[in-house]
Amino acid sequence: MTNVAINETHRQQTAQLDVPPRLLMGPGPSNAHPRVLQALGMRQVGHLDPCFIELMNEVQSLLKYAWQTENPTTIPVSATGSAAMEATLANTVEPGDVVLVGVNGYFGHRMMDMAGRYGADVRRIDKPWGEVFSLDELKAGLEEHRPKVLGLVHAETSTGACQPLEGVGDLCREYDCLLLADTVTSLGGLPLFLDEWGVDMAYSGSQKCLSCPPGISPFTLGARAVEKLNQREKKVPNWYLDMSMVGKYWGSERTYHHTAPINMIYGFREALRLIAEEGLAERWARHQTNAELMWEGLASLGMECYVERQHRLPSLITVRIPDGVDGKAITQQFLKDFNIEIGNGLGELAGKAWRIGLMGFNSRPENVHMVLDAFKYTLN
Ligand code: PLP
Repeated sequence: MTNVAINETHRQQTAQLDVPPRLLMGPGPSNAHPRVLQALGMRQVGHLDPCFIELMNEVQSLLKYAWQTENPTTIPVSATGSAAMEATLANTVEPGDVVLVGVNGYFGHRMMDMAGRYGADVRRIDKPWGEVFSLDELKAGLEEHRPKVLGLVHAETSTGACQPLEGVGDLCREYDCLLLADTVTSLGGLPLFLDEWGVDMAYSGSQKCLSCPPGISPFTLGARAVEKLNQREKKVPNWYLDMSMVGKYWGSERTYHHTAPINMIYGFREALRLIAEEGLAERWARHQTNAELMWEGLASLGMECYVERQHRLPSLITVRIPDGVDGKAITQQFLKDFNIEIGNGLGELAGKAWRIGLMGFNSRPENVHMVLDAFKYTLN
């Protein structure tokens, strides 16, 4: 035993964990499906147990279904969406590579920041927040900057706009450039055909339309991106996210890289199983129907959506804060009076819009009505 006295200052006798029953109708996290929460509590096995290896195979296959891709390198990254985002850039960007980012919201900025940290020559094309890029505008950007990677946010959680991706992959091939898509707020909630659209790399998060808690994040690299990774002159400058190593654990070798978050993977598998059970077409249609119900309901309250109807996400709706209303006071009242969380505006939309999520398990008519009723009550 040592003679050093134990410092007891922080030995608090805290109460047993208890949290309020929130309905998470903001930009994420959204509520996890009860079956996912149940799966998280399942007894553990080792991360190299034959039973876990089988489970990993199932997760990879189900994730390929959700994303509509055949990419062998399709895995969950053991961290949040930002890490999966960083993994795409860390693996494929080499110092001096031109990376062109379409910036029409908050997450385009994050992509630029990350690309710069890996030595990219970062360029940007811009659209006002809430708008999207046309194919012609993207072509002009590729023509001017001749990038190695074009990064686009499919579902901009800060604005509620959906960036169409059809045709962008073909353009990128014309310009010998990789297409990177952020699908954090779209995977499992709206149509996504990674292979059909020629998306070379993508990432997502578990806490949005997948209805799983945050902490594990879909990641995929297509053949062209894998080729760029294999041809790197130097090692990937990020040990944890180096897919040439992580890929061995998730690939045929199944050798140790880091200890997989076993229970998160149980939960993630259940989330993906729920998607396969429901079917993508049905799931996308459900999100669209409930979003339309919300749009009509908001309009009947005299409220205005920020994004033009044609480009609105079904998973995340931005609503203008009416003149003279204190947006933050309303979100606080939603929490206090109704246990409902909606989001305040982010970046340029701070103080101008609220953000309402209708994601995965939470995309249900009764939740739409609860949010509309809460608006009726608080705005009167
Ligand atoms: N990209 C988008 C579009 C997001 O909405 C988010 C999170 O909200 C992220 C990236 C980052 O994900 P995370 O917060 O899980 O790290």
